[in-house]
Amino acid sequence: MRFSLIIVGTAFCAVALPVSAQQSSKPGIERLYVLNCGEGRAGDQSRWSPGVNVGVAFDMVDNCYLIKHQQGLLLWDTGVTDAIAALPEGQKPDNPAMTQWKRPKTLAAQLDQLGVKPSDIKYVAISHTHPDHIGNVEMFPQAMLLVQKAEYEWPNPLGVGRFKPEHPATKLEGDHDVYGDGSVKIIATPGHTPGHQSVLVKLPKTGALLLSGDAVHFKDNWDNRRVPSQNVDKDKTIASLERMAALIKENNAQLWINHDKPQRDMLKLAPEFYE
Ligand SMILES: [Zn+2]
Repeated sequence: MRFSLIIVGTAFCAVALPVSAQQSSKPGIERLYVLNCGEGRAGDQSRWSPGVNVGVAFDMVDNCYLIKHQQGLLLWDTGVTDAIAALPEGQKPDNPAMTQWKRPKTLAAQLDQLGVKPSDIKYVAISHTHPDHIGNVEMFPQAMLLVQKAEYEWPNPLGVGRFKPEHPATKLEGDHDVYGDGSVKIIATPGHTPGHQSVLVKLPKTGALLLSGDAVHFKDNWDNRRVPSQNVDKDKTIASLERMAALIKENNAQLWINHDKPQRDMLKLAPEFYE
């Protein structure tokens, strides 16, 4: 009798276990949208690839990514300012070797299409503080900024802070697991700027994605580990690229390179999404 009770108890456990396992593995992260945050043409590719394609113009894109998680929305980068959408020729750079940005769609309009209000965004995580990434940060004055301390405190040539002092900010010192479940992990990748960061996203169906920021600008530079001349630290850039390669291997991740146009041409843009 006693023996059979144990059997029954064990059988009950065997049935109960998968249910609890199912609950604990329910994904907190639900989906990721790729947003068009700029389209540009740069006059000289060799600014990004020293000695290669000197004087050759090329097209770049600029992405933002909206991540929907049960604990709140995260926007990764904010692109070039929405004000550029009003300029038919785009924003001409002072130096023609650099990028002339256009904004075919505003960030505001793309969020609106998804039914997302700026005040719905819980976190704004910024790869770095170049203008093509922080152009719309103040559309989200209530959102918690997730930025490396080294970037936040990087002296600005204009002599003012890189962010408004009243904007709530978490100043990170290294990697950061945003939701505490490993689904969105900010990875410190210094070199392009002092506090540059990338992000590793683990989606339930798509799997792991490493969003580059500007740790690398296009695939040929990734394949050849080239360091743009304007990067603040060449050795740190190379170390960051090696770290990214290790993470990609470890997590069987795809590398999504923010400014790479041929790659973005292959991606589904919002309102379509990855899950
Ligand atoms: Zn950039």
